[in-house]
Amino acid sequence: MFSPQEVERYSRHMLLKNVGVKGQKALLESKVLIIGAGGLGAPAALYLAAAGVGTIGLADNDKVELSNLQRQIIHKTKAVGSYKTESARQTIQEINPGVNVKTHPVRIQPDNIMDIIKEYDFIIDGTDNFPTKFLINNACVIAKKPFTHGGILRFEGQLMTYVPEKGPCYRCVFEEIPPEDAVPSCSQAGVMGAMGGIIGSLQALEALKYLLKTGELLIGRMLVFDGLKMDFRTITCHSPNKTCKVCGNPPRITDVKKNAALYTRSFCKL
Ligand code: ZN
Repeated sequence: MFSPQEVERYSRHMLLKNVGVKGQKALLESKVLIIGAGGLGAPAALYLAAAGVGTIGLADNDKVELSNLQRQIIHKTKAVGSYKTESARQTIQEINPGVNVKTHPVRIQPDNIMDIIKEYDFIIDGTDNFPTKFLINNACVIAKKPFTHGGILRFEGQLMTYVPEKGPCYRCVFEEIPPEDAVPSCSQAGVMGAMGGIIGSLQALEALKYLLKTGELLIGRMLVFDGLKMDFRTITCHSPNKTCKVCGNPPRITDVKKNAALYTRSFCKL
């Protein structure tokens, strides 16, 4: 059971009827994978660590750059040049030594994603490019893993959660990877650092609610945040899209390795 230090550490959770001692125990026994230890993954990892999620996986093969520090708050100036997974692991353990951190310092690809996601209960997509977002979606649908999608650009952010057999997947909504020049990246167009804090923290909250089996997740709803207007909206996504290539009937994508060519950019239907 809980040590006196754990009771004190998690006391504000335990006071919540949606968490309590039972919920806190469930969090300590849970495993969450964060893909991308950057603008979204950094705040998500900090809140999951502080919340006492027992195992946090971090998948990223990048090293910390000075230009990351404006928003990727898990990394310190002294970490510039080191692997993001290692830098994030150190910060997590300073916040909560009770958390087990598993690092995957690799680029997520069709040939490794199924092996990496299989041991986790929930996945957070903190990546910044469409091919990887589509890959994460396809792998999670095939492996029946819940995940939350997040995206930020400039002062805009969006969020949606997929739970197997409960609603549409990311591909139901976006269908195809947009052409390379259709949507600029954060490195091209810029991003307000605090946007990562908002959307990444909401992703952590979705993961915690899923693990605690409480509240209403963003299933079949896309949350869109305009940081300039300070406006949150949720758009209902028709669920699920029968022609979806991965969760439609019959699905065209049933194996992420075999269907790797389907991640190549085609055309934008948005
Ligand atoms: Zn779908």
